[in-house]
Amino acid sequence: MKPVLVVGAGFSGAVVARQLAEAGLQVLVIDRRDHIGGNAHDRPDAHGVLVHPYGPHIFHTNAARIFDYLSRFTGWRPYEHRVLASVDGMLVPVPINIDTVNRLYGLDLDEGSIQAFYDRVREPRDPITTSEDVVVNAVGHDLYRKFFQGYTRKQWGLDPSELAASVAARVPVRTDRDDRYFTDRYQCMPDEGYTRMFERLLDHPGIRVETGVDFFRHRDRLDARHTVYTGPVDAWFGHYFGALPYRSLRFEHEHLPDTPQFQTVGTVNYPNEHAYTRITEFRHLTGQAHGGTSIVREYPQDEGEPYYPVPRPQNEALYKRYEALALQERGVTFVGRLAQYRYYNMDQCVGAALKAAEYVLEKLDLPAVDAVPQRSAAMVAEPATPGA
Ligand code: FAD
Ligand code: UDP
Repeated sequence: MKPVLVVGAGFSGAVVARQLAEAGLQVLVIDRRDHIGGNAHDRPDAHGVLVHPYGPHIFHTNAARIFDYLSRFTGWRPYEHRVLASVDGMLVPVPINIDTVNRLYGLDLDEGSIQAFYDRVREPRDPITTSEDVVVNAVGHDLYRKFFQGYTRKQWGLDPSELAASVAARVPVRTDRDDRYFTDRYQCMPDEGYTRMFERLLDHPGIRVETGVDFFRHRDRLDARHTVYTGPVDAWFGHYFGALPYRSLRFEHEHLPDTPQFQTVGTVNYPNEHAYTRITEFRHLTGQAHGGTSIVREYPQDEGEPYYPVPRPQNEALYKRYEALALQERGVTFVGRLAQYRYYNMDQCVGAALKAAEYVLEKLDLPAVDAVPQRSAAMVAEPATPGA
């Protein structure tokens, strides 16, 4: 029997592959990179510090089912991400909270008075369609300029007024002192790293993995009974309707010997200075104790590996045209951040991949498999970070 082919060994591809293998299918997973894990891949740098070559990845979700599913393949290290932004010569918390406002404006607001402050400075917008609308509607122009406009122009090469509301809406405005970047119920890092988790996900007698294999160069020999594709959707169709914009980044990694700590939190954002958007120090994320420390700077760019879909109406319209072709493509399922052109976090990719696997099994007339068999669900029913 021919195998099912999965193109891409990131979250989307690896989860689909595992589910299909558990249903009894033979699965061939290929990736054009020389490693598994997609953009969530991690590995030790030349100094033995575990780093994320494709930028910092922090796992967070509210979905118990997704947390339980991944817990079959990894243990966890509790970690709550904190971010500071360099604004007006200070380092202040992001998302904007009471302390951010007090420090920037020399005020003494508390939970009883912060909303009145926001109400005074906000500029109500209706409807809210762009990222500018979201922020200005919540906190007005001054905070918008200090935190969002410059960062967004750098990150996307577009003004917030040109981007969908959903982009800036990822970062809330707080009326309390919570300085965590995420408030999800589950916030943690795989205790032996993402790549180790991917090794276990793909470690199944029904799965064969070939890295360094580009689908488009090898498609003639890759005879499959069904294909699951997790690469850029426009590439599958030879850019038939024109290129779908994806934003890229250049990562500048640096190791600082004899430096126990470079910054006090995992990430510092630079909305208005430098060509990079942010610096992340990995030891905060991974809990590594090491003589030196490793950091990464992110420089946004148009060219290069596709990392982000660019959410704005004209791109969504172009994607819809590709989606219509994708729906007609017999024997192929499209899933993931690049194939569905969705600004998915890792947990959303897992959810989409579990759904895609169900769909493929239905197509092939095979019964569905449990993502979280009863026994392991019971073992991991509690959040990794009690009180989070
Ligand atoms: P990918 O990881 O992109 O995997 C697709 C794979 O397909 C790639 O490995 C690629 O090489 C392969 N491929 C493509 N075309 C071909 C081809 N023709 N032949 C063979 N192989 C091919 N999410 C979070 O939840 N938390 C975070 O903190 C977070 N931080 C992020 C930071 C950055 C800088 C970026 C870019 C993303 C971040 N994400 C984060 C999002 C996260 O990376 C994605 O949600 C997830 O990794 C996407 O998984 P995927 O499998 O859909 O895609
Ligand atoms: N953003 C911003 N300033 C910040 C943080 C975020 O303008 O200090 C905007 C920016 O447009 C960014 C988006 O909010 O791309 C989403 O931020 P997030 O941290 O979720 O981006 P990611 O981690 O996905 O790159």
